Amino acid sequence: MRKTLDASKAVNLIKKLPKQHRTGLAIASMFLGALILLPSEPVEASRHTEAMALDAGVRYPIAIDLTPSSDVFVGEDESSWHTYKVRSGDTLAKIFKRAGFTSRDVYNVTNAGELTKTLVTLLPGDELSFKADNEGRFSELKYALSPTETLLVRQDKSESNAKKLTAELEKRNVDIRYNFAQGEIKSSFWNAARDAGMSSNQIMNLAGIFGWDIDFAMEIRAGDTFNVVFEEQYIDGEFVGYGDIVAAEFTNQGEQFSAILHEDGRYYTPDGRSMRKSFLRAPVNFRYVSSNFTKARFHPVQKRWKAHRGTDYVAKVGTPVMAAGDGKVVKSSYDKYNGHHVFIKHGEKYTTKYLHFRKRAVKVGDTVKQGQTIGYLGSTGLASGPHVHYEFLVDGVHRNPRTVQLPKALPIAKEERARFMEIASVRQEQLDNNKRIMLAMR
Ligand SMILES: [Zn+2]
Repeated sequence: MRKTLDASKAVNLIKKLPKQHRTGLAIASMFLGALILLPSEPVEASRHTEAMALDAGVRYPIAIDLTPSSDVFVGEDESSWHTYKVRSGDTLAKIFKRAGFTSRDVYNVTNAGELTKTLVTLLPGDELSFKADNEGRFSELKYALSPTETLLVRQDKSESNAKKLTAELEKRNVDIRYNFAQGEIKSSFWNAARDAGMSSNQIMNLAGIFGWDIDFAMEIRAGDTFNVVFEEQYIDGEFVGYGDIVAAEFTNQGEQFSAILHEDGRYYTPDGRSMRKSFLRAPVNFRYVSSNFTKARFHPVQKRWKAHRGTDYVAKVGTPVMAAGDGKVVKSSYDKYNGHHVFIKHGEKYTTKYLHFRKRAVKVGDTVKQGQTIGYLGSTGLASGPHVHYEFLVDGVHRNPRTVQLPKALPIAKEERARFMEIASVRQEQLDNNKRIMLAMR
């Protein structure tokens, strides 16, 4: 739904934003102001602008779409469309009846071609739009399958078939625009990313991109920073959703990591090595881990690690625990010290151990994939509370996975390299430009 934004609301919207973003809005607001001065021209705010108002406009640059779009003025043609929302328990026949059409119309529509099969899987909240002819008889039907695809059922345009209905898919182009988020960690990675305006999905994706290099559960520290370039999708100038993160940097405890998205959907370092490695840095998704980093600062993980040759991830009982790498289960059993525990062998050299499960999810001899759930966190055996004790062994010797030398990640395929380097240089420039703008704004 579009809303008209009047002058006072627009000003309030800008006032509500944190100071540093008002500067960012200066140009936009000047433009807005100019439009407000023209009395007969209502200023249209896109859905995106409203969304920005809700989460206090935390991202830069702020895209305000002020282009009047073609569907602002509802013409006669548009007004003859009527839209019905699907309620729970609705059938196509019920909706047609509500719209004033017959079961014959339902039959004709559902027989208009393969595409109309999608009408069988209507979900509550979906919308069907109908158009009647001058005599009030069924003429056309519209059903939005996604922001980009709409099913259209109407009379066949070819003369020989004037009475027959046909179904077609109307596709709309998605414009990709790039946006930027930047943050410095003060209380937690999650909070910093939220403050930078990132969505939950984007935060999880960012942690996923660096999940082989950084232990987001235990090793994030105050002062860590990140920069992210990501896609936004627009249709007819209106924001419809986020796309991929295309470039990202993360500085963790002074060490910088960078990742660039290639056309194959995978992430590589700027010099073309895969971000994906043999071992994940943490066997538990950081969102579940309760030991926030303020606590970690008082009890340095490094010291604790030396004391008992492993890392403890404290989380709720039942939290899924993942295999850190591909491998084979060499032990899955119970004893009074380790509780329910699982050992995995990764090739000849490496073994990982996971202790104190409430419940194991694999058995000896199973082949497991990196990220696969192998058990559920608990406090069985000699455990002071719910946690998973994680050990990493190289040639049978306990090692700290943070400092141990691991096999180098594979480089990008030779035939892809030239293309990737082109992309990487464009992305690096996007990152650098945005960082420069942020610096100038401070
Ligand atoms: Zn432990």
